[in-house]
Amino acid sequence: MPAPLLEIETDTQLPAAADVVVIGGGIVGACAAYYLARRGVKVALVEKGRIGAEQSSRNWGWCRQQNRDARELPMATTSLDLWEAMAGEIGESVGFRRCGLLYLSNDEAEIAGWARWRDFARGQGVITHMLSAAEAAERGRATGRPWKGGVFSPSDGTADPGIAAPVIAKGVRKFGGTVHQLCAVRGLELEAGRVAGVITEAGVIRTRTVVMAGGVWASSFCRQYGISFPQAAVRSSILAVAPGAEGPDALHTSRVSVTRRGNGGYTLAISGFARVDPTPQQLRYAGHFLPMFARRWRVLRPGGLEGWRSGHESLGHWRLDQPTPMERMRVLDPRPDKGMIRLTLERARELLPALKSVPVSAEWAGYIDSTPDGVPAIGETSIPGFVLAAGFSGHGFGIGPGAGHMIADMVTGTNPILDPTSYRPARFARGSWGKVSEF
Ligand SMILES: Cc1cc2nc3c(=O)[nH]c(=O)nc-3n(C[C@H](O)[C@H](O)[C@H](O)COP(=O)(O)OP(=O)(O)OC[C@H]3O[C@@H](n4cnc5c(N)ncnc54)[C@H](O)[C@@H]3O)c2cc1C
Repeated sequence: MPAPLLEIETDTQLPAAADVVVIGGGIVGACAAYYLARRGVKVALVEKGRIGAEQSSRNWGWCRQQNRDARELPMATTSLDLWEAMAGEIGESVGFRRCGLLYLSNDEAEIAGWARWRDFARGQGVITHMLSAAEAAERGRATGRPWKGGVFSPSDGTADPGIAAPVIAKGVRKFGGTVHQLCAVRGLELEAGRVAGVITEAGVIRTRTVVMAGGVWASSFCRQYGISFPQAAVRSSILAVAPGAEGPDALHTSRVSVTRRGNGGYTLAISGFARVDPTPQQLRYAGHFLPMFARRWRVLRPGGLEGWRSGHESLGHWRLDQPTPMERMRVLDPRPDKGMIRLTLERARELLPALKSVPVSAEWAGYIDSTPDGVPAIGETSIPGFVLAAGFSGHGFGIGPGAGHMIADMVTGTNPILDPTSYRPARFARGSWGKVSEF
């Protein structure tokens, strides 16, 4: 029972040339290609498997400003506006609703943390409402229990991960771009040290600009060109239940979180809980990730060797005239952790008793890619024309539209919609990143 995903049509003919080639049809690549196509740029979106099939269909669907790090808050706010506009522009729903996000707690320290964030966010023009015990009980009435307090962020929302990236990719085609699925990009063609094209399994596309939005695969691709991008992924397990239970649209508690899906069912998950499957790449960047993993030791568990076998974090070099690890693993579909799924369902039914009456409809896992500071790497690399956009650290779905718009601005030389400074990949080369943000 995999994560639900809309399948879309593909362009069969690879263009001989494009202004921009975007590698990876997750939410980030789809949005970058979409905002490029909308301004008349000839763009090809190239995906080794199916649009949205990796992280971008496996997430909860939260599009939030709430509790965001200062470096990402402007991107989150901008993204919410862009999410809202998309359905009208494309002529089809991406499943976005500004339904607000509800956080409930009985832990005074956690509530105090939310209050501090509320004070900071107010200065940024973002309004969230702290809830008294009575207000928390009212908003959380479906839980049928008392709460010490909570927070409600009315301008946040959710989008449907089962349809968002595919519908946005349809938008790419609507505005004149092309979308190529089941087509892995094996490497870059370089001339005089700058990008001159991409080599795909189906042929070459000449281009002077490439956006690498390959999610967990980005670091191994960059390594082929001597670019060191510290990236690590953890395996998170999650499930969905069928429609039929009444309850809030999106509720987070420290024990479990529930999110209403587009079909009326719920996605259930435990925030932060994940398995660390050791891989050669993780061992290589272990020093970079130690502070983040140390902070999260309570919710991370050692995993198995499937990440090693999947090939997305291998250290090897591949040839461009032979199938690569990306063709051998069309869709990275890791095994869900049965124990975690059982625990999540148990906690969710305890939190929201109405869930006892609806059956499980799907369960799956996804690798979540992260940078050492938990902030994505977006910007040009040391190779002119090669732009990196990866490491979205568990937040990329919600901020995908803002990131995609900013990437489109950067590669077309337009004044960027957001200040790209905090996202520069070069901060890792200099070892000069700041504090670790939330995962
Ligand atoms: C369980 C879970 C819960 C999450 N919850 C949330 C949430 O509620 N809110 C939120 O904002 N974020 C959430 N996230 C994180 C979010 O899903 C990711 O940050 C986001 O989807 C990353 O998008 P992406 O486009 O960078 O990567 P992906 O969606 O992984 O897409 C990358 C694509 O690139 C393709 N690719 C890679 N290499 C190549 C190549 N060489 N050639 C062609 N194609 C290639 C891959 O096949 C893949 O489809 C969650 C993630 C998970 C797994």
